[in-house]
Amino acid sequence: MLEQWGIGRPSTYAPILSTIQDRDYVNKVRGFFQPTELGILVNDLLNQHFGDIVDIQFTAGMEDGLDDIAKKNRDWTSVVQNFYKPFDKDLEKAFEQVERVKLPVELTDETCPKCGKPLAIKTGRFGKFLACSGYPECKYTQSYQLKTGVKCPQCGGELVERMSKKKRPFYGCSNYPECNFATFHKPLPDPCPKCGGLLVQYLGRFPKCTKCEYKGKLKREHQDSGSPE
Ligand SMILES: [Zn+2]
Ligand SMILES: [Zn+2]
Ligand SMILES: [Zn+2]
Repeated sequence: MLEQWGIGRPSTYAPILSTIQDRDYVNKVRGFFQPTELGILVNDLLNQHFGDIVDIQFTAGMEDGLDDIAKKNRDWTSVVQNFYKPFDKDLEKAFEQVERVKLPVELTDETCPKCGKPLAIKTGRFGKFLACSGYPECKYTQSYQLKTGVKCPQCGGELVERMSKKKRPFYGCSNYPECNFATFHKPLPDPCPKCGGLLVQYLGRFPKCTKCEYKGKLKREHQDSGSPE
């Protein structure tokens, strides 16, 4: 689309695509870009308050203007003035109108070791991390790692949810690097009925043993308690 609309140059395509990922505006999921909550929020705000600029025609037109300046067909002051005058007004308006937007806070079951308040999942420049929900009074943070309550099949430590470098969640042992057990599938609390090994939720749908051939049935959404199988 960038090429089709004459926006940017081949040398700028790759930096554009890596920037929107670095800033957590999109995640790459199986080769597709998926907007994040932050990305949608920022996009909506920009469209609302800077609609003239966050616009394909504007961007393509600006490229042409810059090319004209380079070829000395146009005076740079007129090009910049055309852009800056309305932009300056929009900026001033936005300063007055836009309220500080907060991303919805996602609380975890873990508590802050400093003040006892629950830890929240936050998204920063380098991906997800855990921060005390008592911020700014308490500034405790730790790397993203959520307890699953399921024991590691290799060493008996606890399995925790972490983020891979490619920002894909995975489940690893809390005793890492001493124990290197890891899986991309969500660990389940009940052990394998056949061998007692670790069960994981395979493809998000059915339990599968990590040790033997056991595969369970699709799990129903709501299971009534008290009915033994
Ligand atoms: Zn705290
Ligand atoms: Zn382990
Ligand atoms: Zn098994």
